[in-house]
This record gives sequence, structure tokens and C-alpha cells, in this order.
Amino acid sequence: MEYVMTARSVCKEYGKFRALSGLSMSVPKGAIYGLVGKNGAGKTTLIRIICGLQTPTIGEYTLYGVNSKSPKIDGVRRRMGAVVETPSIYLDMSARQNLEEQYRVLGMPSFEGIDALLKLVGLEDAGKKKSKNFSLGMRQRLGIAVALCGNPDFLVLDEPANGLDPQGIVEIRELILKLNRENNITVLISSHILDELSRLATHYGFIDGGKMIKEISSDELEAACRKCQRAEVSDAAVLARVLDGMNVEYRIISDKEADIYAKLNITSLAKALSEQGCELISIHEKDESLESYYLNLVSGNR
Ligand code: ATP
Repeated sequence: MEYVMTARSVCKEYGKFRALSGLSMSVPKGAIYGLVGKNGAGKTTLIRIICGLQTPTIGEYTLYGVNSKSPKIDGVRRRMGAVVETPSIYLDMSARQNLEEQYRVLGMPSFEGIDALLKLVGLEDAGKKKSKNFSLGMRQRLGIAVALCGNPDFLVLDEPANGLDPQGIVEIRELILKLNRENNITVLISSHILDELSRLATHYGFIDGGKMIKEISSDELEAACRKCQRAEVSDAAVLARVLDGMNVEYRIISDKEADIYAKLNITSLAKALSEQGCELISIHEKDESLESYYLNLVSGNR
């Protein structure tokens, strides 16, 4: 798999306090990678490091395969755009003026592309209105447009839904999906709102106490959180044979346990198993929601 960004054993210390403690992660090309962690977990610190705003105390990371210690790192960082903490916009300027200013900062030869950018983030009708009179959602979208100047193919957003009303959250979500699907931009988003991330993310990194405790794709996470029946039997191999015969989806957990992804008639299952000399010891429904999956991970880490 091709990775836009990787981190290896990154530590960040503020005096004696360790904000990041040997954190490793990999963001696949084309992903919407949700960096999930509660307040103080280390998300912003990690993002500031990737953006070159801070340096790790120990450890290194790569962007497009270029090591953070290489002199080429600043060059590849031009391929990324970021909105860290608050959007970097001039409040006394209109949306267009903000983008023109960013084009100047980047030394772009002309203002070509600004109209398309305004349209992309839904600010084509904002006209001369100054950004200080924008809603929070409009400011966030302008911040993203500023980050998109220079056509990056990796976008980093720190808590983009923070403080937004439900309408603003939907607009940001749709924008991120569009950027990812239509403009092929890999996105790294930090958030502590799991439910919101679950509508977007293709991959997750769960971070706690400055450590990456689990990286998982959304497909794997969905499978882990699916409703199923956990069956305990005297011989899982026999159970597998019986379930194959019933054409039912299942996953073997151990030599005595399996998760069955279907509602089965327990009496029929017990009978079919007993005919092959296998005892059904117990069966119960298992429903691990995203939230409880995360809480289990975090409590396991402690
Ligand atoms: P939040 O969602 O609240 O922004 P976060 O996951 O982004 O949380 P960070 O901002 O990265 O967390 O902070 C991680 C830890 O490092 C926190 O305990 C924070 O207090 C501490 N920290 C961050 N910056 C500094 C600093 N400049 N000096 C000292 N400690 C800091």
C-alpha cells in the first residue's frame, strides 16, 4: 500500500510532560483518515508536527516517502494543505481577497483557479462581505479553501466540525467527501466526535495518552462492530461445517467460539451440532457500537 504520511515512534515532550509517547501511524493514499482521541490525547500536537510547526523530541515521520530529517521535507510539504486549530483567514477581508492573499504568499503566477475554489467550498456568492461577518461554517470553509490554494493532494484538518451547528457540520462533511472522491485528496481529520467521523472515515487511528492504540480500516471496524451472535461450542470446526451447510456468514474466534452474522433458530442449530457430536454451550447477542469499541480500546490501553 502507498502511504502519504507515516510516523515512527514519535515523542514530543514539553519539559517533563510527554504529549506524544512513541506514536506510530500510516495514512494510506486516497484515505479519509480519522484521528480519534479525547481532549488532550495528543492530536493537535501530532498535526502540528506533521505540518512543520513543531519538531518531534524523538522519532521521525515521512511525507510522500520523504523523511522528516531530509532537507527535501519542506518541498514535499507544499503538497499538503492544513487547517490547524482556527482557520488562517484575515477577518477584514472578503473570501476572494483572502484567497488572493494566499496566492500571493505562495507566489502563484496568476489568480486563476480562485473562482473554482470559491465554488468548490460554496462561497461563490459571498461577494464583498468581510470574513468577520461570516458564520463559523463559512469561516471554516474559507479556511479549507485557503489550505487548498496551491492544489495540495493531502489535506490535514484539526477538529473541523468544532463549534459548528448541524447545518455547518453537514456542509463540511459534504465538502470533505467531495474533495476526497472527486479531487482525489487524501484527508487526515482529527476529532473527538466519533459519530461524525464514522460518516466520513475510510481509516481510523485511535490515539490515547500520546500513543496510537489501534489503526483500523472502516471495513474492519464495521465488521468488529456488527451485531452478531457469539456462540460457544465444544468444537468450533464442527460449528463451521454446520454453518457452511446453512450458508451463513460467520467468523471463528477460537477453537470453541465463533461470531455468527445471522439470526438463527437456536434449537435447530443445537440439534444440527449434536447430530455431529458437538455441544452448543452458550449463545448470546453481541452488539459493539463504535463508541463502546473505542471505550474498550482505551480502557484496555490503561
Ligand atoms: P484537544 O482535543 O483538547 O485539542 P488534543 O488531542 O489535540 O486535545 P494536544 O493539544 O495535542 O491534545 O495536547 C496533548 C497534551 O499536551 C495535553 O495534555 C496538553 O495540555 C499538552 N500540551 C500541548 N501543548 C503544550 C505546550 N505548548 N506546553 C505544555 N503542554 C502542552
